[in-house]
Amino acid sequence: MSKYDIIVIGGGHNGLTTATILGKTGMNVLVVEKRTLLGGMAAGEEFHPGYFTTGLLHDTSGVRLDIIKELELEKHGLKVDKNRANVTILCNDGKSVTIQPDVNATATAIANISKNDSVAYRAYHEFLNKISKVINNLMDNPPPNINVDNLTMASLVVLIKKGLILKGLGNKTMMELLKVAPMCVADFLNEKFETDFIKAGLAAPALYGSYAGPWSAYSTINLLLWECASRCHIKRGPQGLIDALQKVAQQANVEIRTEAEVEKILLNPEGAIRGVQLKGGEEILAAKVAASCTPKETFLNLFDPFDLEYELDYWIDKVRGRGTTAKVNLAINKIIEFNGQLVEFARTGNSFDEMEKAFDPVKYMEVTDSPFLDIHVPTRSNPDLAPDGHSVVSVLVHQIPYEFKAGWSVDTKKKLGKDVLKTLEIYSPGLNETVVGMEVLSPADLENRYNLTQGHIYHGEHFVDQLITRPIPACSSYATPINGLFLCGSGSHPGGGITCAPGSMAAKAILKSK
Ligand SMILES: Cc1cc2nc3c(=O)[nH]c(=O)nc-3n(C[C@H](O)[C@H](O)[C@H](O)COP(=O)(O)OP(=O)(O)OC[C@H]3O[C@@H](n4cnc5c(N)ncnc54)[C@H](O)[C@@H]3O)c2cc1C
Repeated sequence: MSKYDIIVIGGGHNGLTTATILGKTGMNVLVVEKRTLLGGMAAGEEFHPGYFTTGLLHDTSGVRLDIIKELELEKHGLKVDKNRANVTILCNDGKSVTIQPDVNATATAIANISKNDSVAYRAYHEFLNKISKVINNLMDNPPPNINVDNLTMASLVVLIKKGLILKGLGNKTMMELLKVAPMCVADFLNEKFETDFIKAGLAAPALYGSYAGPWSAYSTINLLLWECASRCHIKRGPQGLIDALQKVAQQANVEIRTEAEVEKILLNPEGAIRGVQLKGGEEILAAKVAASCTPKETFLNLFDPFDLEYELDYWIDKVRGRGTTAKVNLAINKIIEFNGQLVEFARTGNSFDEMEKAFDPVKYMEVTDSPFLDIHVPTRSNPDLAPDGHSVVSVLVHQIPYEFKAGWSVDTKKKLGKDVLKTLEIYSPGLNETVVGMEVLSPADLENRYNLTQGHIYHGEHFVDQLITRPIPACSSYATPINGLFLCGSGSHPGGGITCAPGSMAAKAILKSK
């Protein structure tokens, strides 16, 4: 008999969430994590002697407050600010504007640039407030089961009910939402605002992790989902969440093994889950496995090809997850400013045309030399991450393709690093001379380090067809066609980002299946 009721593959924030919720019910849970560190993409690391990141990611506004409460994470050291963090939009002419949680303060700041945009910002926020409840209701509840091969009357009713939630918006807002959702984000924001760099900065989240430019259809949906999901921010960044999750997992008697990479998921002769085999050959038995690694890693790498039905194999292979993000970490020997200000979170972009031009080469497997950047200076709020008086600058470099014709090598990464420094120099003249250490992670590096298929930051693109029935209809309710196998990572509903949401909803699906 197996010692474990369930094995969770991956100790990222979703794997830890699933494991803890199950552990709290008395199940015997084992988490197996390939790396020495827990946290997956949220793990803080030393990238240069004496300089640390707080995780790969910057924005923690999507972490679900109800899950924080359910897991009592604040009792275990998590510090949450119930407001989003300030984000400064930088323009290459030296101007900037800071988006703050307080709409009035933001509108006042925008008014210094454009009175019209200030009015437009208030109206934009009013619209976001109206739709947030409905959008969050759709995203924070398990998706309807729309497995076309197994469509029951009950699942149809759920589907219709989900659609009817939109009616709660009232006719005017519902019609506006239906009108704007399919739009490209450039058209959507051009209808409202007039200042190029403000529009570009507001639009940027729509393009994070997207194989899309601002003129790509449906990019508005990503922006609306991002804005509606943003509710708070985690002090000490993603690593702060991982520390608290690790403590609650231990309290729930979850066993955690690091440096334990699953090489194979094992099936019994009936085709149901039997356990996992680690690299090195060790077999660990359990009748249930929850995989928080990417759906492609789960199905295409961890099973024998002949174990899967052709249809499942085929559709998982078709899930799109073309990585377009690189990461650059900089160790800086002074307190850094951008456009003459001390900022913690900042974005560049300048205009839709510049952002679209950065996306164009991606389609031809080439790399722009003018990427747009998402900048985080974690040492602003957490100076311990670097020596006294020094800074860490973490940069997400957007529109950098995984599929790169010239290939990712030491030389191509060096070129990318130089282009990022050249771009940063515009906003922080003299920055180059202050760099004492630098780490460049291409999308291919992200794949190798985290088993992140094609280096895609969300375990699969957020696009309309890959949102609700994520990753594919047959696995969209966390259970899969393989008896005992569940998905619990960002490849499942409601998708990527640091949220704890897929992990929590998967745990509840697993409990229901008992
Ligand atoms: C560069 C970058 C920037 C990002 N920026 C943001 C942002 O600003 N805001 C935001 O909300 N989100 C951002 N994201 C996305 C966010 O980080 C992820 O969606 C989220 O952290 C994923 O959490 P997870 O637990 O689902 O998966 P992961 O964090 O990927 O965890 C999966 C774990 O499984 C392990 N694993 C994989 N295969 C195996 C195996 N075979 N055996 C054992 N272990 C295995 C991995 O090592 C990893 O620890 C960013 C991601 C990246 C890469």
